[in-house]
Amino acid sequence: MKENKRLPDKTVERLSQYRRNLLTCVANGKTHIFSHEIANLLHITSVQVRRDIMLIGYSGTLRKGYDVQELIDLIGEIIDSQFGQRVAVIGVGNLGRALVSYFKGKRSKLLIVAAFDTNAEKVDRVYAGVHCYHYDQMAEIIKKENISIGIITVPASEAAKVAENLVISGIKGILNFTPSPVNVSPHVFLEEYDMITSLEKVAYFVKKNDM
Ligand code: NAD
Repeated sequence: MKENKRLPDKTVERLSQYRRNLLTCVANGKTHIFSHEIANLLHITSVQVRRDIMLIGYSGTLRKGYDVQELIDLIGEIIDSQFGQRVAVIGVGNLGRALVSYFKGKRSKLLIVAAFDTNAEKVDRVYAGVHCYHYDQMAEIIKKENISIGIITVPASEAAKVAENLVISGIKGILNFTPSPVNVSPHVFLEEYDMITSLEKVAYFVKKNDM
């Protein structure tokens, strides 16, 4: 794959999912896998799997399929940054704390290195190994710790202000967990994750299946 080629959003999402499933395959001693097996694991078509894997310039053999470890390594080269990326969580409430604990030790190339909050009782405490700084120190710490990604887990009413501040602080990517959409300049990659929409989607299809 050419270095400067930008993959579609959905392909990047699926590559991440492929890698997680392939890692489980390795743990179970599986060395090769066919596209239809990956497709079955993720409830998608094998055509989709082959298309994504072709996009990253990899192909398997007709007889054995894809080499699992080679594919894991190639996906890593494509979606991970060589020296890793440093992440901050803004808002150390229920969700912020859950994320910090969940991520601990999960991804060597994606490290949560700082958290920020406005609540004096949380400032200077350590959550799952991550120091919580006062929100006012955000710009300073982001620069000092070379943080490129911010995860927003503050109340919805604070989201816009926090996003604006993150951009001013030089952040390159934002994952917004609040139900309030935010605006950022085009050079910052923004992903909004709205759990309510996902749940309402499931509820709609449950209702349809019951009819
Ligand atoms: P919470 O009230 O437990 O935590 C919010 C935290 O943000 C608090 O620690 C608060 O002190 C801090 N905060 C407030 N203003 C801030 C600011 N300007 N800068 C830095 N920190 C600030 O809330 P929660 O349940 O963790 O939810 C956080 C956000 O995530 C909400 O927008 C919520 O809608 C969304 N969300 C939560 C869940 C969940 O399971 N808890 C699920 C989906 C989405």
